[in-house]
Amino acid sequence: MPRRSQNTLRGDALPLSPHGDFVALAPRPHMPIELLDAMERGDFEEVVALNDAKSGLKAFLCLHDSRRGPAFGGVRRWRYGAESQALRDSMRLARAMSRKCALAELPAGGGKVVMIDSDDLDPRAAYQKLAEYVDRLGGRFYTGPDVGTGNEELAWMAERTNFVTHPGEEGPGLLAESTGEGVFRSMEAALRHLDGEVDWPQRVIVIQGLGKVGSHLARRLLECGATVRATEIEDSPGTEVARELGIELLEDSSEFDAECDVFAPCAMGGILHDLTISRLRCRVVVGAANNVLAGGVHGEQLHRRGILFAPDFVVGAGALIRGWHFHVEGAREPVEAIGERVGAVCERIFEMAREEDEPPQSIAAAEADRILRAD
Ligand code: NAD
Repeated sequence: MPRRSQNTLRGDALPLSPHGDFVALAPRPHMPIELLDAMERGDFEEVVALNDAKSGLKAFLCLHDSRRGPAFGGVRRWRYGAESQALRDSMRLARAMSRKCALAELPAGGGKVVMIDSDDLDPRAAYQKLAEYVDRLGGRFYTGPDVGTGNEELAWMAERTNFVTHPGEEGPGLLAESTGEGVFRSMEAALRHLDGEVDWPQRVIVIQGLGKVGSHLARRLLECGATVRATEIEDSPGTEVARELGIELLEDSSEFDAECDVFAPCAMGGILHDLTISRLRCRVVVGAANNVLAGGVHGEQLHRRGILFAPDFVVGAGALIRGWHFHVEGAREPVEAIGERVGAVCERIFEMAREEDEPPQSIAAAEADRILRAD
């Protein structure tokens, strides 16, 4: 049984060492932030700090851009070491959502809520207070799940606002499936881009994390005859998924060394950095985990190593697309159509990257920012 401690789960926003320890964020995590200056540099529209003594709610709500339409972004709840980290995370994630919307060709923008978790937090009361605030925005911002915010929290919020993803039948449904399908189609695009064919029965895929997205992806790959291996946290529900699907679980941290065609990070962000990139023995990295590169330089590092990296803000747009169609048009976009759409954007980014001999990450970021600036 692979050994991996539960606290590695708390790493979505932070780079991890290969052993699951946090490594320093750049810039320094406790560095104060000059807010208006940072907003100007990143072209941010609005950043709101929320405080409610009764519920213990302390949160930042960041609207990066709502010029093209309402802003979309989930609620991340996390135990941050410093307030400045939470603020920085909300801004970074909101901007990534704007890029996701731009490249998915949705008339929408990026937003995010980061709620600071603590022993003093009364989660139900805090989520409801937050929902009241979101409701007052009157549809400028739609919110939904993220790390730390699952169905229970969404149901609390849905009692106070309609501008949240309802987790039940009244909601869009199939969000993780939509994301997983986008990842699957992006993998196909990557393999076709490299080899001119997909040929699943000859492919080995290593998935980090068999959660909501990873398990959908694994099922799709197995249906197509690919060989799937995975890593998971000991005794997590994902280990059950592996047993049920007959997937071999690799030792803790060995996903970085495993020889494979595709490495699919579907757990946490910040896992690809100087130490892990040098170990990779795959040809392609395609996964759902948000902000999987620890820093801007790491897209370039993968490119120099000849590893094709599909930017997560392209690949992971499935749930956003499903949510947008539901909230704005009242329609449930079929999962297959969403997958095709995400795969097509990914293919276009790979082609542009080949023409320019630039990392797909830089190409996608520049293309998204060009679309955003054009408005
Ligand atoms: P999830 O919590 O359902 O699944 C994550 C899985 O990863 C869990 O099974 C967990 O046990 C496992 N895991 C955590 N740390 C690990 C580690 N160090 N090694 C191996 N396994 C580990 O989350 P999800 O909804 O499947 O999302 C996965 C990632 O994709 C997240 O980063 C999320 O932000 C991103 N994402 C998800 C969606 C979506 O629609 N759910 C959309 C866009 C992006």
